[in-house]
Amino acid sequence: MGYLLQNVKIASEEELKPTNILIRNNLIKDIGEKITPSGEDTLIGCRGKTCVPGLIDLHIHGSYGINLMQVDPEKVLQLADKLASQGVTAFLATTAGKSIQAIKKNCSEISVAIAQQESGARIMGIHVEGPFFNKSSPARGANNPSWLRTPDLEEAKEIIEACKGNLKLFDIAPELPGAREVVDLMLSQGVTVSAAHSDATYDQAQKGFDWGINHLTHTYNGMRRIHHREPGIVIAALLDNRVWLEIIADGQHVHPRMIELIFRLKGLLGMGAVTDATMLAGLPPGEYDFIGTKVLLETDKAYLKEEGTLAGSIATGMDLFMNLCNWGFSEHDAAMICSTSPARHMGWTEIGEIRVGAKADLIILGDRGAAITFIDGQIAYQNQDTST
Ligand SMILES: [Zn+2]
Ligand SMILES: [Zn+2]
Repeated sequence: MGYLLQNVKIASEEELKPTNILIRNNLIKDIGEKITPSGEDTLIGCRGKTCVPGLIDLHIHGSYGINLMQVDPEKVLQLADKLASQGVTAFLATTAGKSIQAIKKNCSEISVAIAQQESGARIMGIHVEGPFFNKSSPARGANNPSWLRTPDLEEAKEIIEACKGNLKLFDIAPELPGAREVVDLMLSQGVTVSAAHSDATYDQAQKGFDWGINHLTHTYNGMRRIHHREPGIVIAALLDNRVWLEIIADGQHVHPRMIELIFRLKGLLGMGAVTDATMLAGLPPGEYDFIGTKVLLETDKAYLKEEGTLAGSIATGMDLFMNLCNWGFSEHDAAMICSTSPARHMGWTEIGEIRVGAKADLIILGDRGAAITFIDGQIAYQNQDTST
């Protein structure tokens, strides 16, 4: 048994005629104008609607009141289920802050969830944001300085252990003493290493990229500013073909033209959109106590009450996709930035693409977001308002 999506437009570089997609088991089995379904296939008429690969978020701390920095396995799985409604089909559960003990506990709770997962957006692993960041510079962003510390090899080993093989992405400020040893350790374990919350100069950043750091966390945010006499870490990453750049495409953290600048230098496969969403995403506006700090939540942004610094984002995966389309990217290009490129960068070859043989993780777009989200060949979300 499977699904035949009829009269569906696959977002592509050139204008394509609507076609049909056959899903069997968990895979895209066939794509073409003439596909004969079996009696057991469910037919879904898509009336020319657009199909894009499911969105992939490499940096998300929570949503809907669920905080991945303070979770139990059940909550992690609830979040995975809810993300399907945004068209997100895979993500890295992202933890940050506080003590090494708290980080390790979160990592081990998330690992239990990964082992138990049966539905929802795929939890591809864990992204640990910190705690080896530069506390003496504004680059620390919304991180409480008391959480941040000098890189420590033993603590890094403990974090790896707590993740039970699920650590996929680790963030560090490369200019700190001892950073090199931690980067080497992470790379030896197959973990992708990203530069983040860093005051690195151009030269310090380049050195970090030579060690094997090939990812920049929320580019422009939480890092040394670009200056024409000291270009800093952003320009070092923009000019280095080995480095892939994350951007928070929520319209608050980065100006759209700064995203265009990355696109022009890096191309679609050198960049990816992330939400960096906090637990506040999806909650009503108001004042919240957010991991020990007072945060004001408005309809389109959240910021620290005292300093006015943005406190992560409240965007959804679908918000990023739609923002990119509104800023001039085609649906195909937006899907590359929100899905294909993150998947390629992380080495996930079976997702992030609409092609025969790929995992059937895809979205049929409605007027206001995902009309239907397929994950692993099953309907994970269907918008009741949208009849297909
Ligand atoms: Zn951050
Ligand atoms: Zn973050």
